[in-house]
Amino acid sequence: MRDHAPAIPDLICELCRLFYQLGWVSGTGGGISIRGPEGIYIAPSGVQKERLRPEDIFLIDADGPDDCPRVIKAPADPALRISECRPLFTNAFRMRGAGAVMHNHSIWAVLAARLFAPRGEPGEFVCEGLEMQKGLRGIGCFDTLRVPIIANTPREAELSETMAAAIAAYPDVDAVIVAGHGVYVWGADWVQAKTQAECLDYLFRAVVEAHRMGLPIAGTPR
Ligand SMILES: [Zn+2]
Repeated sequence: MRDHAPAIPDLICELCRLFYQLGWVSGTGGGISIRGPEGIYIAPSGVQKERLRPEDIFLIDADGPDDCPRVIKAPADPALRISECRPLFTNAFRMRGAGAVMHNHSIWAVLAARLFAPRGEPGEFVCEGLEMQKGLRGIGCFDTLRVPIIANTPREAELSETMAAAIAAYPDVDAVIVAGHGVYVWGADWVQAKTQAECLDYLFRAVVEAHRMGLPIAGTPR
């Protein structure tokens, strides 16, 4: 553990600014949640993610009921609401013991899903033979990576059941792609979640660009 590790609310704000620069959380999209010893920290819904301040972050009880989170510490601004992603973050925390969950609206995730599931239906993103696969838990560069794609819903929270089913069906992968929307990625801690989110985004982009250039990449639909 490094000295002077940032407090989790500060870290969430820093990561949101970094992800904004990557185009992952523009237009108030996306979200981050990190587990701490005192509960689960989660960003508010529908706010400019690059302007978040540490006092805007919610702290909720990790063991509270699914349908109605117990808020341990609310932001000073009463207009702020907990991220709509909360039930989806909860899936990864409970089903996988995740330490952090990151949701982004990267254009590469959206285009990669479109390649493999052109009508927004459920499907599977596939790639192999890329070095950046090694940044994903348990995957080597010559393995075949398969990431589930689920169909989108009008409200974010309505994704919860299909996401839970995808998590159960793909125990070796720490991500679920949502067609026409983005991706949820998690890890044992925020470092692993961030690393996996970055590696996946690279792989999504590599497959989309390869397909655009007509290059043969394993798994790419013809
Ligand atoms: Zn979203």
